[in-house]
Amino acid sequence: MGEWAFQRCIHPDCAATFDIDAVLTACPKCGDLLDVAYDWDRLETPARLSWFEERWARRTRPLDFSGVWRFRELLAFARTKTTEMPLVTVGEGQTLLYHNVRLGREIGLSGGQLHLQYEGFNPSGSFKDNGMAAAFTHARMAGATRAACASTGNTSASMALYAAALGMKAVIFIGSGKIAYGKLAQALDSGGLTLQIRGDFDDAMRLVQEASTRLGLYLMNSVNPFRLEGQKTIMYRVLEALGWEVPDWIVVPGGNLGNSSAFGKAFIELAHLGLIDRLPRIAVINSTGARTLSALVNDGGLSWNAGHVDEEAVSRYYGRLDRDGLRAHTLASAIEINRPVNLKKCLRALEATDGVVREVPDEEIADMKALVARSGPGCEPASAASVAGARLLIDEGLISSSDRVVCVITGNVLKDPDLPVKYNSLPAAELAGQLGLFTDRPPRWQNLPVEVEADLEEIVEVLEGDAP
Ligand SMILES: *Cc1c(COP(=O)(O)O)cnc(C)c1O
Ligand SMILES: [Zn+2]
Repeated sequence: MGEWAFQRCIHPDCAATFDIDAVLTACPKCGDLLDVAYDWDRLETPARLSWFEERWARRTRPLDFSGVWRFRELLAFARTKTTEMPLVTVGEGQTLLYHNVRLGREIGLSGGQLHLQYEGFNPSGSFKDNGMAAAFTHARMAGATRAACASTGNTSASMALYAAALGMKAVIFIGSGKIAYGKLAQALDSGGLTLQIRGDFDDAMRLVQEASTRLGLYLMNSVNPFRLEGQKTIMYRVLEALGWEVPDWIVVPGGNLGNSSAFGKAFIELAHLGLIDRLPRIAVINSTGARTLSALVNDGGLSWNAGHVDEEAVSRYYGRLDRDGLRAHTLASAIEINRPVNLKKCLRALEATDGVVREVPDEEIADMKALVARSGPGCEPASAASVAGARLLIDEGLISSSDRVVCVITGNVLKDPDLPVKYNSLPAAELAGQLGLFTDRPPRWQNLPVEVEADLEEIVEVLEGDAP
């Protein structure tokens, strides 16, 4: 193709390539997913990851400030033969790797090596901004004027923010009643056209794909391979914060599986470029109420299989979901997805990194969410699935107590205030009634408010009883 960046079908028997500025969400030849691919020999890449540190001194330049674009040599798609494309940024990626010894001990990492990658500190409050910076850059390369997505919430919040900043139109498809308030508020406030579909996320996802094809909307879901290019940088920042050392484990919640796919691609490329000498193992964590990946991999033995994924097994599984009327159902709404669009790319990432998949029940997610907030910044429910998953893997002995573990904290605590309010204010029986959770045990980290008269003596009595 003679270009340094192009799009390529992930199926090894097809591997068709397409121009970098084409707008595609699937291979036109075989229908499989597409990668953004690079001819690395024709690109200038640094010899050492520490080379990127020189950008820190130039933080007043927006592209060096951006936690995505300061690594731009590793996602160098935004060029055409004649021009350098302007890169889109709203200041994403100012995130934090938070070393949390206390939480680590609590979940069994006696070596004190638990790190939380806080992606909730992004401008829209979730990791999605990393992907949007890259995808909106591509949308502009392609001359798009209208962006669309189906969303459990954070994709729409992020897309609406970027569209507003760029003066583009945003169209949002959400399943009715299936969005946390903080996220809906963001989408509406940013001025996005918000369609509340009478159906669930999987319905919204199918419809937005069809509508995008028909109307030429630029699709911002993570089937868009440019999203994943931006999300690779989450891992670059983890390495950066660890002094460019590779951790033993990356633990991430799995919804549409964009993150896990992007992380795998990031590490495969870094190893190819000789910038790291080993890969971490990736653990993808499902909720038991949306366990497609876990079911297919752990029960069904599904694997990447050198690109020849057993598609029949996947169709059979989806057929069974349909026949039995099984819908995804979890309080971790950001991962309430039964048909993950990036399934195959995730399988590739699992194979490359010797990864594993686990599932955790909502009770465990709710408890871990509360526990995360007890020792540092909090998170939204789906994010806590990573910590719950890490704990499970430590209990199993797969993660050893001295391993260095990074849990990706995908979204901000303010996104979904409904759960923590209920978790911390309802008596166990009512909690069970309202959420259908904690029917056989009480919540572990509940912090009930204490009601008192407007009377100093009574308040003093309560505080004396609570003295450290
Ligand atoms: C989107 C999202 C997820 C799921 O990520 P995938 O890349 O779709 O697997 C998890 N947590 C939060 C907070 C999200 O917004
Ligand atoms: Zn193909």
